[in-house]
Amino acid sequence: MAAIISGKEVSAKVREQVREECESLKAKGVTPGLAVIIVGDDPASRVYVNNKKKACAEVGFVSEEYALPAETTQEELLKLIEELNGRADINGILCQLPLPRHLDEKAVINAISPLKDVDAFHPSNVGRIMIGDYHFLPCTPAGVMELMHHAGIDAAGKSCVVIGRSNIVGKPMAMLLLHENGTVTICHSRTKNLKEICSNADILVAAVGKAKFVKADMVKEGAVVLDVGINRDENGKLCGDVDFDEVEPKASYITPVPGGVGPMTIAMLMKNTLMAAKIQNGL
Ligand code: NAD
Repeated sequence: MAAIISGKEVSAKVREQVREECESLKAKGVTPGLAVIIVGDDPASRVYVNNKKKACAEVGFVSEEYALPAETTQEELLKLIEELNGRADINGILCQLPLPRHLDEKAVINAISPLKDVDAFHPSNVGRIMIGDYHFLPCTPAGVMELMHHAGIDAAGKSCVVIGRSNIVGKPMAMLLLHENGTVTICHSRTKNLKEICSNADILVAAVGKAKFVKADMVKEGAVVLDVGINRDENGKLCGDVDFDEVEPKASYITPVPGGVGPMTIAMLMKNTLMAAKIQNGL
């Protein structure tokens, strides 16, 4: 039987800390501001943006939403980012991905000022993470680390395996585990003997994007299993990349889906926005 690490609980604590710090910033005349840009009408993106706005209101930030039509041009989008870069009352800028196909995602990420890049996607922030000298950590991997810290799990000297090598989850996740002295292996779609590698992991992070991909025979007895995946199963029910029912009895700790890593992402976004407001105001 594994201990369940509740992202609901930990994220509520993080948001409460942010709310308290926000109050003391306000007493110094600074109200953190987040601008969220959404282009087009992707329903999943709409849900994420609404949740981000709600979280901002809860912690006391000002948020501005820029809902742009799907046919927005690259020039128009870059112009808006440029304006937001120049505003002192906006500390964080986030452009909800994915963007419609005709827009250049890389150019958009590059246009956001690194000091306002609260997603930590800008190459300068990615580089800073690499050398361990960062302002912001990418929200999802940072959320996973926060869950580990909360549960008292130390990566030092442990065999850590990350399945997935995306720029937003897998790669930075591996880097954060490395910073905490884990011995890290990254697996991906071309990895041979995946089962063997995973079943040697003390800490296994799944960021694959495939429902119930990680089965019990891929998990070592007593492993810590952290599930980043958000998928729908064959019945349309939300589930992770880990087959929870199979894996839970074997693991020492496990994160559920929903209620695990998911709620942490927005909490860490709030933390980054607070940090951005502090940095930009020399606090
Ligand atoms: P992605 O599609 O960009 O990357 C998936 C990775 O999995 C790739 O690097 C690929 O090499 C690897 N992969 C695919 N098939 C594999 C296989 N058979 N064996 C081994 N590796 C394989 O996805 P992503 O953006 O990194 O997201 C991963 C999952 O995390 C998705 O379910 C996504 O919805 C979820 N996610 C959750 C949050 C959150 O807030 N909890 C945030 C971002 C992403």
